[in-house]
Amino acid sequence: MDLKSGYPFWAVKNGLMYAFPQLDTDLTCDVVVMGAGITGALVANELAGHGHDVVVVDRRDICWGSTSASTALLQYEIDTHATDLARRYDQASALLAYQSSLRAIGEIGELAHEVGDVDFATCESLYYASHRSDYSSLDDEFTWRKQHGFPVRWLSRAALKEEYGLKASAAILSSVAARVDPYRLASRLLDRMQRKGVRIFDRTEVTSMTATADSVQLTTNGGMSIKAKHTVVASGYESQQWLRPRVAKNLSSYAYISDPVDPAQLGWLANTMLWESSRPYIYLRATGDGRILVGGEDDDHDMPARRDRMVDRKAATLQRKVARLFPDLQAPPAFAWAGTFAETSDGLPLFGQHPQHGPRVLFALAYGGNGITYSMLGAGLLRAQIENRPHSLTELFAFARLG
Ligand SMILES: Cc1cc2nc3c(=O)[nH]c(=O)nc-3n(C[C@H](O)[C@H](O)[C@H](O)COP(=O)(O)OP(=O)(O)OC[C@H]3O[C@@H](n4cnc5c(N)ncnc54)[C@H](O)[C@@H]3O)c2cc1C
Repeated sequence: MDLKSGYPFWAVKNGLMYAFPQLDTDLTCDVVVMGAGITGALVANELAGHGHDVVVVDRRDICWGSTSASTALLQYEIDTHATDLARRYDQASALLAYQSSLRAIGEIGELAHEVGDVDFATCESLYYASHRSDYSSLDDEFTWRKQHGFPVRWLSRAALKEEYGLKASAAILSSVAARVDPYRLASRLLDRMQRKGVRIFDRTEVTSMTATADSVQLTTNGGMSIKAKHTVVASGYESQQWLRPRVAKNLSSYAYISDPVDPAQLGWLANTMLWESSRPYIYLRATGDGRILVGGEDDDHDMPARRDRMVDRKAATLQRKVARLFPDLQAPPAFAWAGTFAETSDGLPLFGQHPQHGPRVLFALAYGGNGITYSMLGAGLLRAQIENRPHSLTELFAFARLG
């Protein structure tokens, strides 16, 4: 599967940071993690850090999948409003999803500081009403979040104009959000794990997976076998090849990044990310070196050849939208790219076993706009499942909820 088009900035900026071998021998271990993107890195880190003997394999170079294309806004605010989740499930589920995600931002921050040098920074998140007709759903969402103690402030049309110079009927300002270089975080985590003894192999594709009652056997494209007590399928949007029927819809999402911008021009964008209530939405954030990163313009299908052709045109459309919001900002695209993206019908991820493969195979499908936050949550959740312990998110993130 072709996961990305154009020039994803993180891969260009960082290059191939570390070298890992190809697998050329048979292995046994406690857990084999299939996929070395941000999800596989976080899951392997959680397991290896708690005494599990972990092997990680990736069919590409590590982090060369969607992780290199991610714009990596870290938010507890899920693409599905909490009020919609509460209507679809119940209040307790909505609260659990939002509170867990809020906690995960702090946990990613702690890990980023531990690993160091991954362009992590906390920031604020400004979510504005794209149309006047969105006002009441934003108002309901704000009331719900305020009632449940989330760190939010309501901005009226006048306050939004005065404080941010933006024209919209209202916005929710959240004081908890963050940003990171996802490629660097995952790569540095994997390197740290390798130095601590975790066996990591790239350019090693899993071609078959057979589960029995007490083990899983994987075969690789090089004809090697890996026998483990559990497998975690952290293969990103390619994971669905192991599942029938599909559990999520694949889309294409587009992004561009500017050269570093004069701090005076950047203004409040230096520490506030911006997104809107339309779906799909446009979003913006700054990087540590003062670039503007813009994303959106999603297609509701994913056709790599078409996506390749559309990158520049979509970047131009995004740029026009940014110019309407910030007429004085001079920040044209320096690099533009696109990637496969997937979302579930409720905006929540899928972690855990699937009836098709039994209890030894655990999926880590961090699908949705909050993929990285979800991966952080999924790491703890999957460790609990492997250790046979209950976890508060098991049911909410399970395949069973989708019927
Ligand atoms: C344009 C774009 C913008 C995004 N913006 C955000 C954002 O702002 N915030 C956010 O939180 N998330 C965002 N996301 C989503 C986020 O990037 C994803 O959730 C995340 O990258 C998924 O990581 P992953 O490790 O699950 O998948 P990947 O990074 O794709 O890693 C999976 C790995 O599995 C490997 N693999 C696949 N099949 C096999 C096999 N058979 N054998 C061995 N290895 C295999 C692949 O080679 C790949 O390296 C964005 C995504 C895109 C595309």
